[in-house]
Order: sequence, then structure tokens, then C-alpha cells
Amino acid sequence: MKKIGVLTSGGDAPGMNAAIRAVVRSGIYRGVEVYGIYHGYKGLITGDIKKLEVSDVGDIVQRGGTILYTARCEEFKTEEGRATAIKQMKKFGIEGLVVIGGDGSFMGGVKLTQLGFPTIGIPGTIDNDIPGTDFTLGFDTALNTIIDAIDKIRDTATSHERRFIIEVMGRGCGDLALWSGLADGAESILIPESKEDLDTIVERLNRGIERGKKHNIIVVAEGVGRADEVAKAIKDKANMDTRVTVLGHVQRGGAPTAFDRVLAARMGNKAVDLLLSGDKGKMIAIQNNQIVAHDILDLLTKKHEFNENLYQLAKVLSI
Ligand code: ATP
Repeated sequence: MKKIGVLTSGGDAPGMNAAIRAVVRSGIYRGVEVYGIYHGYKGLITGDIKKLEVSDVGDIVQRGGTILYTARCEEFKTEEGRATAIKQMKKFGIEGLVVIGGDGSFMGGVKLTQLGFPTIGIPGTIDNDIPGTDFTLGFDTALNTIIDAIDKIRDTATSHERRFIIEVMGRGCGDLALWSGLADGAESILIPESKEDLDTIVERLNRGIERGKKHNIIVVAEGVGRADEVAKAIKDKANMDTRVTVLGHVQRGGAPTAFDRVLAARMGNKAVDLLLSGDKGKMIAIQNNQIVAHDILDLLTKKHEFNENLYQLAKVLSI
């Protein structure tokens, strides 16, 4: 293999740039040309492709977002769309592809692999919702962004002796809520994997008030419902006032943490290694601090494992 491509697809995540850099430089180090494909699969169809040199990926390791831009592309889900994408890759002489994104993006990669274009995936999404890996790229950075925000909210919560409900990202996977709730001593953590009833939430709030707590924090994953709905339910049930903060897209931005940068370097390097050794249809993962690879089709039948132990620990510590 003499020429490979790299693209970012789906939702952006901090650390994607560091991963692009790692793919480009690991490739060039091994003597292959690396092509950047802009705007995800859309750029593969339109031929928005450019050869990247070592210096093109300089000064990006510390930047959030993705210099290749990201997009969702319905056309790529069609056979015609993929046929055009393959024509473009042939035109540029690209023989293999690294896809940085979520499970949808990996499905696109699998389809290309089945059509004879080897693809390797790197899990880049803040939600940590990909099975087979302990962490996805961007999760640690988003988590730290959330913690920083909750710490600030805590200051004002304590000063005014208020209860706050904070909504964080996470549709099917509550890891951002779980880890931030544990790290920030939330009274209750509401996640899609484990339902907590309203009585228990109110009971915990009351217990805190009884022992003289000056603030209360409830973290809600967006997959459970909207924070203002939780606030209304608490008001209706217990006549308690709460303040709501929805953190929103701020969670997707910012400089990647050291953890995400190092993870990106390790995953990017491994992806190039696999492609050049003839491997395909795999996703790079980190498990027990080892960089490994799993078959994407096997992975997509599974769900990201919920860490019940952490959830129980958060409950123990917020008595
Ligand atoms: P995130 O979960 O962070 O949003 P994702 O990669 O799961 O990331 P999707 O919107 O599901 O995001 O997918 C991104 C793109 O991947 C789609 O717009 C489409 O171009 C391609 N894609 C998704 N599913 C398929 C599929 N089944 N076949 C071909 N291409 C697909």
C-alpha cells in the first residue's frame, strides 16, 4: 500500500486533530503518502481530497475540532454514492482509509471494506458509547469540561444555597453523566442505563438538606430527558425549586486533554500499522491500557458496557 486516506465523520470530538496528525505522520514515517479527505464521506464523493505533508498537521495536536471538518452524508448510504466515492479514491490512488468517528461512520467504513477498500476505524466521540473500548477519543476532554463547569456552578450553588440540575450530553450512554457526577459529588446521577425514580431523587435532596448541605447537584444525561422536565417533576412532587443548566455544545469543544492526545497518538499509529499490514474492517480500541483492534461487524452487535460498579460507588459516596 503506497497511498492511504484519513477522514473524520459524525459528531466532532476533541482529539480528532491529534489523531489526524498521528495518522499522517505515522504514514509518512513508514513511506506512504497520506491524503486528507475533507467533510467526511461527503468529501470522498465530491473529491475534496488533498495530500497532507508533515507540516500540514503541525500546530494542531492541541486544537479541538477537526481540520478536515466533519459531516453527515446521506448519499454515502446509497450504492451510487459509494460507487462515486470509490471512483474518487481510485483517481487519487488511495488504497486504504482511516475513519475517525462513531459507529455510523464505521458502518460506512465496513461497506467500503466489503467493496475492496480496506478501512480501519478510530473511535472519536465524546459520548464514550462505542463497544469494545474503555474510552473513545474526546471523552476525557468533554468530561473535564463538564467538571470545570460543575465546579463553577457549585460555587454559586453554595453561595445561594441552591439545588442545581445539570444536563450533559449522552443519548444512549450515560458515561459523561456518571463520571462527572462521581467526580463532582452529585446527589443523583440520572442515566439511561439505570432508572432512578423521583421519590429516591427527592429523598436524597431532603437528606442533604437535613444534614445542612448548602448545595445540591443532580446530573442528567440527555438520553434520560430534559433537565427542565426533571426540575418540573421535582417542583410538582416536593415543591422544591431548582436551577437548570444545560451545558450543550461547549462539551464538544476545547483543547484535548493529555490523555486524549496520547490516546490519539497511540490509536492513529496503530491504525496505520494495521492498514499497512493488510488488516481491514477493524476498529482500534483501548482496553486495560493496551491498544487493541476488534472486528467492526462483531462490535456493532454489542453495546458499550455500563460500569455498574462506578454507578454504585457514586451512590455510596453521595449518602
Ligand atoms: P456520532 O455518534 O458521534 O454522531 P457517527 O459516526 O455514529 O458519530 P452517524 O451520523 O451515524 O455518526 O454517521 C456518520 C456518517 O457515516 C453518515 O452521515 C454516513 O455518511 C455514514 N454512515 C452511517 N451509517 C452508514 C451506513 N449504514 N452505510 C453507509 N454509510 C453510513
